[in-house]
Amino acid sequence: MSYDDRMSPDSPTDSSNSPVDGLEFDDVLQRAYRHVLSWRRSVADRPVFPAVTSDELRDLLTDGGPPEAGSDAISTLDVLARAGELGSTASAGPRYFGYVIGSSLPVAVGADWLVTAWDQNATLYSCGPAVSVIEEVCADWLVKMLGLPPHTSAGFTTGTQMAAFTCLAAARHHLLAQQGWDAETDGLWGAPRIPVTVGEQRHASIDRALRYLGMGTRVHEVGCDANGAIDLSALRAELDRTDRPPIVCVQAGNINTGAVDPLREVCELVHDRGGWVHVDGAIGLWALVSDKHRRLLDGAHLADSWTTDAHKWLNVPFDCGIAFVAHPDAHRAAVGVTAAYLEASDHRDQINTIPDWSRRARSVPVYAVLRTLGRAGVAGLIDRNIEHAHHIATRLSAEPGIEIVNKVVLNQVLVRFTAPGRDDDELTREIIGRVQDDGTCWLSGSVFDNRAVMRISICSAYTTTEDIQRSAEAIIGCSRDATAGRARTPRTG
Ligand SMILES: *Cc1c(COP(=O)(O)O)cnc(C)c1O
Repeated sequence: MSYDDRMSPDSPTDSSNSPVDGLEFDDVLQRAYRHVLSWRRSVADRPVFPAVTSDELRDLLTDGGPPEAGSDAISTLDVLARAGELGSTASAGPRYFGYVIGSSLPVAVGADWLVTAWDQNATLYSCGPAVSVIEEVCADWLVKMLGLPPHTSAGFTTGTQMAAFTCLAAARHHLLAQQGWDAETDGLWGAPRIPVTVGEQRHASIDRALRYLGMGTRVHEVGCDANGAIDLSALRAELDRTDRPPIVCVQAGNINTGAVDPLREVCELVHDRGGWVHVDGAIGLWALVSDKHRRLLDGAHLADSWTTDAHKWLNVPFDCGIAFVAHPDAHRAAVGVTAAYLEASDHRDQINTIPDWSRRARSVPVYAVLRTLGRAGVAGLIDRNIEHAHHIATRLSAEPGIEIVNKVVLNQVLVRFTAPGRDDDELTREIIGRVQDDGTCWLSGSVFDNRAVMRISICSAYTTTEDIQRSAEAIIGCSRDATAGRARTPRTG
């Protein structure tokens, strides 16, 4: 049967030559640019959390149902811009302290536009040499700036979650291969069990990565000190319970307190037993670039794998996490791939460094920030935000009824509110709600040591001392209003 015979007789041939509407870039990108500037110029002065309801957003976007006929591209951008302006948090602004969410530097946003416009599939060198080489240079700079072992390999993932998956896949491969087990071919059916030991205050993404890897979440938990760093003697006791080489997950930057585990001592203990140390440095790995704060992570370079997020403290737009592995062969064996149709090269084929197949060139904004700020500039950003954390902690703790719960080491501050005759947990939650409604700054709550806390995380390159002062006064005002029983003001917007 010829190709023509296989075509159905009524297959449309005449429409295949007419262009799709809306292929002109100029007007559309000019419009997008105007919307972008309007958003970014307003972001410092807006209420940090929007006042819109989800119904209002839905009404704006659905407009009666799935469109049968199309609309012009400009009006589509206008609708999106309106929804975005009404319903986005000002997390790119200077007074967003919720979760751990960085802003994005202008050069990173600009570089991200280039990534979108180039529209390269960052999977193989043969799909686009430029983004492969940018990623290679970026990985090399990062390894040097962070002081990791020179042979360390790196992969750029959506975030630390998938970076942890990548690193722990490499760990699983490495430890099982040493025991003669091929996890990639045989899976884990009948494999020797790898003991996995974690701090009790690890981030939940570690458990999720272990789940995805078939290693399960029945891990050995080790207790922590008062600031949430792993207790070394408890770790030693736990490791003495088994003679199998373990995976031990520690962290540089506790999600609540910012505490850093004693990395040098952990690495020595674990390596004595032939194990693998993984460092979750989503927040704190960046302190390695700082002359002032590097000592917090003493011994970090001794570990076997590390993760961090560029979309947090490096201030690149979402999304970008990074997996670093000191055993490049294990890294590649765990996540790499070959297929007949893939043109492999002697260059960096990005597909061999992360679990994704096709993906955007998310290392490009990272390169842009590293080149523009330099190591010293990145260190300056880290140092400044840590200073801000101390500043806000000092100001808040001068107020009666406000207590700083953690020892501030990085950019995380935990706050607790007390008043005679009030339940502290309930009061703390009420004040978090009042601050969120007030709109000067935004932060979220957490539970630490079984008590409700307000959690402040400072990761923005835009935050100034004045923003810290304004935010501290807003928090203190809400605290005074709450303890005096004054009515809550409705959310501004
Ligand atoms: C944010 C965070 C993660 C998860 O990172 P994603 O980028 O959201 O995937 C893991 N660990 C810690 C300590 C974090 O702060």
